[in-house]
Amino acid sequence: MDCINIYDLLVFANHGVLKEENVLGQKFVVSVSLYVDTREASKDDDVDKTVNYAEVCKLITNHLQSNTYKLIETAANETAKAILTAFPKIYELELEIKKPWAPVHLAIDSVSVKIRRKRNVAYIGFGSNMGDRKKYLQDAIKLINDDELSYVDKVSSFIETKPYGYTDQDDFLNGAAKVYTLRDAHSFLELLSDIENKLGRVRQIHWGPRTVDLDILLFNDEIINSEKLIVPHIEMHKRDFVLKPMMEIAPEAVHPVLNSTVSALYYKLNEA
Ligand code: AMP
Repeated sequence: MDCINIYDLLVFANHGVLKEENVLGQKFVVSVSLYVDTREASKDDDVDKTVNYAEVCKLITNHLQSNTYKLIETAANETAKAILTAFPKIYELELEIKKPWAPVHLAIDSVSVKIRRKRNVAYIGFGSNMGDRKKYLQDAIKLINDDELSYVDKVSSFIETKPYGYTDQDDFLNGAAKVYTLRDAHSFLELLSDIENKLGRVRQIHWGPRTVDLDILLFNDEIINSEKLIVPHIEMHKRDFVLKPMMEIAPEAVHPVLNSTVSALYYKLNEA
C-alpha cells in the first residue's frame, strides 16, 4: 500500500501528568505515515482523490490543542482515531508523538510513543422478510454508514430466498456488505443490535420473521468464541443466501476456521 508521510509537525500543547505541564504547555513533535491507495489520484492528478496532508496537519494540530491528556499514549490513540474518522481513504496509519521537553530531569533527547492503527474489515450478512423489506435493508445499511466509526464500502445486490429453519413465513430478501470499522468486534455487534432494535425487530420465534437481521460473518481474520459472539458466523458456510452475495463482493475472503475462500465454500455447497 502507498504511504504519505508527514515528518516532525511541531505542536505547542498542554499534555502531561504534571499540573504545570497542563498550564504552561510544551512542544510535541508528531510524525505520521498514512497508508492510502494513491493510484486513482495520480491517474487523474486530483487532490480530492487522495488524502490532503495539509488538512491532516491541521486536524492533528487542532486535536492536540483543543484536548488535554495526561499521557502521550492517550494523545496518540485519540489523534489516530480522529484522523481515521475524518479521512476514510486512510486504510492504516502509524503515528509517533515525541515529547522533547519531557520533565524527567535527566539528559534525554526526547521520549516518544509510536502506534499503528488499522481499520477492521467486517463482512456482514443481512436479511428481512417483513413489510417493505428493501427499505428496511437500505435503512440498516445507511445507519451503519452513519456511525462515525464505521463506513460501508461494498454492498451486494439483494436476493430473494426461501425461509430457513422455521419455514412457515414469508420469503426473505438477503445480502452482504463489506464494512470498515474502528470498533472492535463486540462493539460492532452492539451497533448492529442497536440498529436491529431501532428498525423495530421483535424477537419472537427463533429464526422467525424479522424486519432486519444483521449478522457478522467475518471480522478481519479473527476467530471469536464468546458468549455473545461467534465469528466466523457459525452457519455461514452452510447458507447459500450468505455465500451467494458474498461471492459478489468478496470471493477471495478467507474463512479462518475452515481455511477456505468464500468462493471455494460456495462451490462446495452448491455441488453437494
Ligand atoms: P439471530 O438474530 O437469531 O441471528 O441471533 C442474534 C444473537 O446471536 C445475538 O444476540 C448475538 O449475541 C448472537 N451472535 C453470535 N454470533 C453472532 C454473529 N456472528 N453475528 C450476529 N450475532 C451473533
